[in-house]
Amino acid sequence: MISAVLFFIAGFLLGHLMPRIPFMVLCRTSGFNKGFPPHPEPIPLSPRLTQRVLHMRWFHRLGTFTTLLPLCFGYLSILGGQSTFGYGLFLAGGWTLLSRAQVLLDGPPVACTLEMAERLQMVMNIADSEEACCPHPQPQWWVESIRCESCSKRLEEMLRPDLGRPRKDGFFRGGFRLWLSDGRPMVLPDESQN
Ligand SMILES: [Zn+2]
Repeated sequence: MISAVLFFIAGFLLGHLMPRIPFMVLCRTSGFNKGFPPHPEPIPLSPRLTQRVLHMRWFHRLGTFTTLLPLCFGYLSILGGQSTFGYGLFLAGGWTLLSRAQVLLDGPPVACTLEMAERLQMVMNIADSEEACCPHPQPQWWVESIRCESCSKRLEEMLRPDLGRPRKDGFFRGGFRLWLSDGRPMVLPDESQN
């Protein structure tokens, strides 16, 4: 009985982890992160950063497709005899698919969105225009908002999700955080400092 429960838990954890591997592992290489300051420092806004947001969105979407793996393996395990392990895989895969499908019903989207990239571009456009916050605007994306490095003005209230940089808290601890948060920011917006 205990081994069945352990097999179920192992299957569930593995099935839950598999769809998250693309964004947890593939983008952490140092080559992919050249030109970005190390985590968790703020990142200057640039077309490169906007492109990174779109890349991360792609990695999250890829994860939705890899959900097929635990579903298939789970199904095969159920047929093949190791049914509790298979049920765990199948359930975790289905759970992930359902949570990703929530976006169709106006639920929370994945951590990086097209709207986020558009807002970054808008802040850059304003910084280049006459409406800029100061003569030498240097917008940077901090954890809780976009602020100007030169005049410290808050330019946009937008929490920074995980952007694929190798994490300061290490591969395993950082990876565990990512697993729990799905790459979403783990802080609440601070509304007192406007
Ligand atoms: Zn400024």
